[in-house]
Order: sequence, then structure tokens, then C-alpha cells
Amino acid sequence: MSDIRHALGVVRERIDRACATAGRDPGEVTLVAVTKTVDASRVIEAIEAGVGDIGENYVQEAKGKIKTIGPGRARWHMIGHIQSNKVKYIPALFDCVHTVDSTAILEGLERRGKDMDVLFEVNLAGEATKSGTDVEGLRRILERASSLVHIKPVGLMTMPPYVEEPEEVRGVFGQLRTTLEMMNAEFGLAMKELSMGMSSDFEVAVEEGATMVRIGTALFGERR
Ligand SMILES: *Cc1c(COP(=O)(O)O)cnc(C)c1O
Repeated sequence: MSDIRHALGVVRERIDRACATAGRDPGEVTLVAVTKTVDASRVIEAIEAGVGDIGENYVQEAKGKIKTIGPGRARWHMIGHIQSNKVKYIPALFDCVHTVDSTAILEGLERRGKDMDVLFEVNLAGEATKSGTDVEGLRRILERASSLVHIKPVGLMTMPPYVEEPEEVRGVFGQLRTTLEMMNAEFGLAMKELSMGMSSDFEVAVEEGATMVRIGTALFGERR
């Protein structure tokens, strides 16, 4: 068995166990394999092992890999910070964007005229160095989204501070879930995706309701 196939089995088992702990159906949790710095050949290996969702951080890097691998072989997720000069390339490359954090980015996506599933990145810990909007900003973005035709708001994403002990960020994950419920109520939406949890903390995220976990290192090893 290849390393990737083995690692995938281990990660899936850990997700299943976290679901069992929380009384959730594992079918509700999508594993997004994060492939920044990972060669196309290894991404193909992951797809052949059963990965259906791929997350990339950089438009340029993703463009090359999607061209090599083929757009239809996986569902492609943009999970990196979006630079305003790169927005225009995103709809043609990706099926879903996790990191919309301003009305300018939202309008840039809308302008391409392609229907897109969009998640909004929320910075709940208020870390100045991180991207993501606060809850007030999120309200402004959702207000704007309600008048756009190609943007489909499907959920929220967060990147908690890095900690040694994943239990320390359980509260942040719970806060993202309550923020989603609050926004659905305020804006009459039915968003259901919570993109939260990485290699170091995905079990806690699943226990707190994650529907998309973004996992790189646990599948492909340490990045160079
Ligand atoms: C790199 C990255 C991940 C994956 O991180 P790992 O710790 O390698 O699992 C998840 N989400 C985002 C936004 C990332 O940039």
C-alpha cells in the first residue's frame, strides 16, 4: 500500500472515531486534502486512493496542477488568502472558495459570471496577523451577497491560532458554529458548511461540528 493510501485510511478512521464520539454521521464530514507544495503526481495518487476534494492555497500553483491533473478529477477548493489581483482567475479554476473576507473579493468573484459556492473566512481570535473578517464585517459581506446572483453562501471557515494542545481551540470551533447559526437566522440563509480543523486539531473540530476538514501534513507529511 502506498504511503498516501495508508495515511488516508488512518485520517478517515480518526474522523470516523471523532464522529462516533460526537454522535455524528461520518458522511457529513468532507475531507479536503490540502496539497500546497505537493507535486501533481502525488495529488493524483491521493485522488486514485479515493480523495475527492483538493484544497490549494495559491492561484498560480493551483493553475499548473489543475491543468496537469484535469479539472474534473476532483472538486477544487481555494483555501488560501485571496490577493485582489488574483480574484479574477478563481472562478475558472475552483469549484468552491473558503476564504472570502471582504465585499471587494466577493464582487470580484461575482463579476466572472460563474455560479460559485462561497465560504466566508472569520477571524474569531482577532489576531491582527491573520486574514479573515470579524463578525461585523461578516454581516456587511452577507448583506452584499444577498443582492448577487452568482454567489451562493454555503458556510464559514476559520483558522484558529496554532496551539500545542488542540483542546485549547475547541472554544473557537464552537464559536464558528454558533456564528453560522446566528447568521442563518439574521439573513434567512441555510448555510451548513463549517470549514475548520487541520492536521493538528481536526478531531476536536469534527466534535464541534466541522463539515469540511482541511488536512495536509497528516496525509502528505511535513511540507518542505
Ligand atoms: C496548509 C493549510 C491547511 C493544512 O494544514 P496541515 O496542518 O498541513 O494539515 C489547512 N488550511 C489552510 C488554510 C492551510 O493553509
